[in-house]
Amino acid sequence: MKSRLIPLLPHETARSEWNHPIVDSRLSTLVASKNFVIVARSHETLRALFNISHSNMKAIAVRPGTSNSVHVAELDKPSVSDIPDDRGVLVRVLKVGVDATDREINDALYGNAPEGYDFLVIGHECFGIVEEVGSAVKKVQPGDYVTCTVRRPGGSIFDAIGRSDITSEEEYYERGINLRHGYLTEYFVDDEEFIVRMPVGLKHLHVLAEPMSCAAKAVEQAFLAQKRLQVWEPKRAWVTGSGQIGLLSTLILRLRGMEVFTIARGAKPNLKSEISEGLGSTYISTAEKSLQDLAAECGKPDLIIEATGSSAIAFECMEVLGHNGCIVWTSITGGQRKVDVPSDSVNLNWVLGNKLLVGSVNANFRHFESGISDLALGEVTYPGVLQKILTNPVDGLDNYAEMMRLLVEDKDALKVYVNVADG
Ligand SMILES: [Zn+2]
Repeated sequence: MKSRLIPLLPHETARSEWNHPIVDSRLSTLVASKNFVIVARSHETLRALFNISHSNMKAIAVRPGTSNSVHVAELDKPSVSDIPDDRGVLVRVLKVGVDATDREINDALYGNAPEGYDFLVIGHECFGIVEEVGSAVKKVQPGDYVTCTVRRPGGSIFDAIGRSDITSEEEYYERGINLRHGYLTEYFVDDEEFIVRMPVGLKHLHVLAEPMSCAAKAVEQAFLAQKRLQVWEPKRAWVTGSGQIGLLSTLILRLRGMEVFTIARGAKPNLKSEISEGLGSTYISTAEKSLQDLAAECGKPDLIIEATGSSAIAFECMEVLGHNGCIVWTSITGGQRKVDVPSDSVNLNWVLGNKLLVGSVNANFRHFESGISDLALGEVTYPGVLQKILTNPVDGLDNYAEMMRLLVEDKDALKVYVNVADG
């Protein structure tokens, strides 16, 4: 008799008809098979009950709520049968990118463990190779290179139509971030709905797919929202910030034919100015020129993608946007900073100029696909430039301490990623 482990969502409880001595509403995991359904408190209980054999694998995890708790944990090796309806895709992890989100989760600023666990496996930017697929899977096959989306559906209408990236629920499920294990491990399994194929010719850009999906959504949101104007053909765009989102947004806007200014703190020449200029953008250091001076000299922008991580700059952008323009805010600012804003003049100019501000976070399957298309177009338009973003490889899951050190201490580390396995 074959049984399956199905983790319950946090809002689900065991149903009363499963009235068995070991079943109660606090239980978090269920086993289903042809002949019985049993809910049990943990995977360990199930194993003990049914003597289910398993193999373990290494994972890099934190204990949510405890700062600097990054450590090696153990997970069961997943199997395609963990996903219902034969839709499972088993992926061998090759590379995982990490960013400020992983650092902040290790600082215990946010992040929660999945039900039944006291740890959360981190890492939400993955690249791997398909090892096995369920019989109903059509999109990918063993040997394909893939990445995987991050957010999983909750209960809102947006989740129901495949737009969990704009869920209206406060609680969200994100692999490696909140209530779902991430990818910093050896294998993962997921529904084919969330698996995104990476062309073999983009293998060398691996973990850029996830940050690129966020940049793709940010730019898409501007164009969708600006349909309010009936005609909008932005000529001049600014990207504030030259981290991965800033540089990848620079690429997308250049591919759309805009004159782009990439604006960041560091004086040039530096790696970020080199990459920006390699993408045909003009790099401006705010140490040398203020946003106001740049607008006076080169004209106000039609579009600003804000990705500095500074709420002060996010608000300052509001003072320089052109008429009918749009700003997309993408920075996550976890602090308590307060700034003085010339609110009368901003308010006046925004009303008189019909301006628009949009917030954008996360990405769904379509944004991954459009981001990957633009990585491909970027690679043939500006050959060899994008891989310069991938600055700091770390070899093997065992080197997690070095991975975290680079994230915390190395301000020049544009992209830290872990080589989990060869392939
Ligand atoms: Zn990320």
